[in-house]
Amino acid sequence: MSLAFTVLGSSGSFPVPDRACSGYLVEADGTKVWVDAGPGTLANLQRHVAPEALDGIVLSHAHPDHWADVMSYFVVVSHFRPRQGVPVWSPARVRTLVAEVHPNLAPTFEWTEVTDSSVVKVGALTFTFSRTDHPVETLAMRIEGGGSVLGYSADTGPGWSLTELGPGIDCALVEASFTRAQEREGLHLSGRQAAITARAAGAARLVLTHLQPGLDPEVLRAEAAEAFGGPVELAVENERYVV
Ligand SMILES: [Zn+2]
Ligand SMILES: [Zn+2]
Repeated sequence: MSLAFTVLGSSGSFPVPDRACSGYLVEADGTKVWVDAGPGTLANLQRHVAPEALDGIVLSHAHPDHWADVMSYFVVVSHFRPRQGVPVWSPARVRTLVAEVHPNLAPTFEWTEVTDSSVVKVGALTFTFSRTDHPVETLAMRIEGGGSVLGYSADTGPGWSLTELGPGIDCALVEASFTRAQEREGLHLSGRQAAITARAAGAARLVLTHLQPGLDPEVLRAEAAEAFGGPVELAVENERYVV
């Protein structure tokens, strides 16, 4: 009985050597869901689970740093590790883009479009969503399972609040793309802003992710810790976090 996530990638916007883009393997009571499939995350996914054994895939938005590897995953389960009917949930635009490459998504994928008001139940996990402050339809996620709650910001600017995911968040996984000096509207958060929104939501714990290449993550962490009023963790590739 526990909720946990393994970081498959934590690099913001593009992958760098040793760091894939956004992706997480979320698990509770034997249910395994791949949340966001940024470039490089399929490689890391295979360290932790047989690709055909996933219970589902949930994608937050249509920026390719959050879904590009689902196109390669389609090839894996079509030809190499056969599996049909893999459940996928995403905003409509992601499905459209993937279907440009793989026109016959079914029967390999059983794809369902989700919006701000959707509820997705997959095994021991329940997902609800909140549209964030980001240029395309982007869904933050409240993920419940094993008696715990994970709040994932996906990508967002400071015009959205983690409080939109409701109370009782045990762990907040929040994007931190900028230093305080780089803060601006409508795109991404700084570490400091990630901490402010996590604190407003009453999150017990804060893990920073979507760390922008070229920035020292320790600077983001220090700026976040000051605003959070306590220790802040960084998302480390292939580490497992028990919520
Ligand atoms: Zn992103
Ligand atoms: Zn984005």
